[in-house]
Amino acid sequence: MLKITSIPAFENNYFWIIQPDPAQDTVFVVDPGAAQPVLDYLCTHQLKLGAILITHRHNDHIGGVNDLLTHYPVSVYGPRSDAIPQVTVYLGDNDHFELGELNFHVIAVPGHTWEHIAFYLPQQKTLFCGDALFAGGCGRRFDGTAEIMWDSLQKLAALPDDTRIYCAHEYTLSNLRFALAVEPDNADLQERLHHVEQLRANHQITLPSIILLEKRTNPFLRCQENGAKIFIKSQLGETPATAAEAFGALRAIKDTWPAR
Ligand code: ZN
Ligand code: FE
Repeated sequence: MLKITSIPAFENNYFWIIQPDPAQDTVFVVDPGAAQPVLDYLCTHQLKLGAILITHRHNDHIGGVNDLLTHYPVSVYGPRSDAIPQVTVYLGDNDHFELGELNFHVIAVPGHTWEHIAFYLPQQKTLFCGDALFAGGCGRRFDGTAEIMWDSLQKLAALPDDTRIYCAHEYTLSNLRFALAVEPDNADLQERLHHVEQLRANHQITLPSIILLEKRTNPFLRCQENGAKIFIKSQLGETPATAAEAFGALRAIKDTWPAR
């Protein structure tokens, strides 16, 4: 039985520990931005590291890799990028690999960065998506066009409704506050925001999310809905012609929210 644990780090990052079988002591880590919290976790729970998985090149996702490798010379699964020379197994869209009897399926999700990938476990309907999709939001668009990133998010939205989403940051509360500005009348969103406010008031994690909930409440997956179009018109004075255009506009608006 698969066990997934969060290691909180920095201001709002989560490094994910994947333990395929709690009866065995080998685990994998996704996006270790620092080594010490991971080493501490392994020591406390008497576990050993079996592999490192990387979604994209940003330092808060790879900063711990070198140190971890000096303790555990394991394989590093990730995308091809000059900024991640530690990767030993290069992965791209539709690649598959097996680790501890888990069958990982790779989904390319360019947009936040061009090389960004997500790791999907079809049997467990579990997704590790780094900074591509967040609970109630998505990563900033640093690389490529709005259309490319919109297509990436559509691939994730097409996963089964009950897929669990393990993203890399605790941004849910601020994401949902923006979402409510976009869709003030969305009842699912109001209910979710209320729930997340309670969780955060108690310093609890808001993850994993699930795909169905994101489709109902995440404005970046709801660019075809009227609410998003009306909101964009109110902000920019123009109605986007396509969903991808609406996505690009919404992402740009949020980049400076609530300053504008
Ligand atoms: Zn990032
Ligand atoms: Fe990040």
